[in-house]
Parts: sequence; structure tokens; C-alpha cells
Amino acid sequence: MTSKFIGMREDKGTSVCNCGGSLVYQDEWDRLFDYYDEHNTPSHDLVYNRIHNEDNQPKYICDKCSLEVFVIPDYALRK
Ligand SMILES: [Zn+2]
Repeated sequence: MTSKFIGMREDKGTSVCNCGGSLVYQDEWDRLFDYYDEHNTPSHDLVYNRIHNEDNQPKYICDKCSLEVFVIPDYALRK
């Protein structure tokens, strides 16, 4: 399965994949975001980091080619 990383600034919500399929927002990502946001994670970029590092949960998955799109803080992308 292929995956790609984009920065938070580049994240414009659901969009069209390069293959022509749709990038579908993952309910599990939404659930994790709410959980971390409510449980002492002080900023949204740290929430994004945890969802990637601890859960390895993509934010979007293409409904056609199964590309997994992970969204991480912009500073993490440059590493
Ligand atoms: Zn695709």
C-alpha cells in the first residue's frame, strides 16, 4: 500500500487523488483527534503528531487506489 505525507498547511480537506479517486476522510482519525484534543494534548500540531506516531492512522484514504495520506505538522515534514 502506498502512502504520502503532507503538512498541515497543505491539508485542504478531502480532495481528488492523482489517480482520479476521492480522498475519503477517516472516521477513526476524527475519533483520535477528539480524544487527544480532550485529553491533555496542548496543541493541534501535537495531536497530529500523536495520531501519526502512536496510531499510524492516515487522515484520508483514496477510495480507488488505496493511497494513504498522513497529515503531520509542517516542521515534522521538513525533517
Ligand atoms: Zn488514488
